Amino acid sequence: MIYILPLLAVIIGFIISLFLKPSSSVGFKLLLSFSGAYLLSVTVFELLPEVYRSGDPNVGLFIMLGLLLQIVLEFTSKGVEHGHVHQNEVTGHFPYLLLISLCIHAFLEGFPLNNSDHLLYGVAIHHIPVAAILSTFLLSSKITRVQAFLFLVIFAIMTPLGSWAEANFEVLRRYEAYINAVVIGIFLHVSTTILFEASKNHKFNASKLVVIVLGILLAYLL
Ligand SMILES: [Zn+2]
Ligand SMILES: [Zn+2]
Repeated sequence: MIYILPLLAVIIGFIISLFLKPSSSVGFKLLLSFSGAYLLSVTVFELLPEVYRSGDPNVGLFIMLGLLLQIVLEFTSKGVEHGHVHQNEVTGHFPYLLLISLCIHAFLEGFPLNNSDHLLYGVAIHHIPVAAILSTFLLSSKITRVQAFLFLVIFAIMTPLGSWAEANFEVLRRYEAYINAVVIGIFLHVSTTILFEASKNHKFNASKLVVIVLGILLAYLL
C-alpha cells in the first residue's frame, strides 16, 4: 500500500489533467481545498503530538526549519506543491530546478508514512492535484512527451523511495523525531497555503467551506 498509493495518486492526477483544466475547474479547486484540509488535520491530530511525545526540546526548531525549507523550495517550484504554477513560463528547457525541488519535497514526505495510514492517505490525496497541475504544465511546455513522462515518473517514485529509506536505514530512524518535525513544517506550509489561496479576497464560498470541514471531519473520525 505504502508504495502503491503515492504512485496511484500521480497516475490519477495525470488522468485528471487530460480531462479538465486545473487552473479553471471548480471540481479541481474543491479537490485541492479538501486535500489541504485533510493534510493539515492529520498533521495536527497525529504527527504533531507524536513528535512532541519524543520529549526532545529541539523539535519545534526543526518544524520551523521544515517550514523555511518549503519556502526556499517554492522559489524554484513556483507553488506546484500547493496546486498551481504562479509563473507561466513556457520554455524549451527541461525544468531541472523544478524537478529537483519537487523531488526533495516528495522524498521527505515519504518518511513519516510507515507509521500512519492516515498520513499515507493525506499525502496521496495531496499528490493528486499536484500531479494534475504538473502534467498540465509539462505537456503545455515545449519539452518532449518522453521528457514529460520521465519527469512524472521520477516525481512519482520519490515518496515511496522516502518511505523505503526510512524503513531500511537505521541511522534515519535514530533522527526520526527531527526528520518528522521537518516534514511537519513542510505539511504546515503547503496545507495552510492551499487553504489561504482557496479563499482569495476572503470571498465566501459555501462549497469550498463544506469540503474543508469534510476534510477536517474525515481526518478526525477515521
Ligand atoms: Zn501559490
Ligand atoms: Zn507534497
